[in-house]
Amino acid sequence: MALRKLGDSAYLYPGSPSTLIRVHEGRAVVVDPGLGKGRHKDLKRQIKKLNASLGFQLATHGHADHVAVSPKLGVPLFVHRHEFSIAESPLNRGILTFGSKAPKGFLAYSTGEVIVHAVFEWNDELFGMRAIRLNGHSPGMTGFVDEENGLVYSGDALFGKRLINSVGIPYFVDAELFKESLGKLRSLAEKGYTLIPSHGPVVSDKKAVDLIEFNLQRVEDVEKIALELLSKPMNCGELAFRLMKHYNVEITPRRLALNLVPVRAIVSELYNKKLIKGVVENDLKWVRS
Ligand SMILES: [Zn+2]
Repeated sequence: MALRKLGDSAYLYPGSPSTLIRVHEGRAVVVDPGLGKGRHKDLKRQIKKLNASLGFQLATHGHADHVAVSPKLGVPLFVHRHEFSIAESPLNRGILTFGSKAPKGFLAYSTGEVIVHAVFEWNDELFGMRAIRLNGHSPGMTGFVDEENGLVYSGDALFGKRLINSVGIPYFVDAELFKESLGKLRSLAEKGYTLIPSHGPVVSDKKAVDLIEFNLQRVEDVEKIALELLSKPMNCGELAFRLMKHYNVEITPRRLALNLVPVRAIVSELYNKKLIKGVVENDLKWVRS
């Protein structure tokens, strides 16, 4: 697949996730190498065409679709320290969705072990970019600000409309942090940075602000509807099912399992605000207090 030039030293390898290639001091830094058969070969081919040597890899977070081809690129991978064990261990990735080992083939994406060579902190300068905290989607979700090219690789802190409309509920493990990160992205968009979501279109100016608003609105809507639905006691599965029905998305066992994650995060939020309480009715259920 051909690269799209985003600036003097930044290129996008399109896909879902997309991969950012940043040339720094003659070396190519790959941000979110992604997944897919043959992708590593294609990435190497494209980097060669840039007359750069493959130097390092950065990942916004450790989800399998963002790091699957990393071992095949064979250069050191850097992740935020909160993502270290998620990127490295397939079992930990299963735990994120199921709380335990996941049923085989049930996760949307899976891959084997991934070796992480170094961890970074938020605000670290890495190969011409600055790591910024954009967590909520995952514990250590990181964006990369590239001043030279005026862009921010925003990973899964912001989703394209098509993706959100296909699943109904954006994926996050902490609703408040997810919203806070969207707020940070809005201020960067307002300063003129171009935003690059991993799953969605490259956006800037009004389009960037509109997309952020769309994401924010969906989270707030889901929270509001969840609270309304909990006028009757409901377990998390039923709540996720009802929300998906509301957004008219196709409900498959896998999608329902995935959406249980943000639904549980919302339940925790509502509980912490003392808006709901837990009851035992053949299951752990939640109801408005
Ligand atoms: Zn992700």
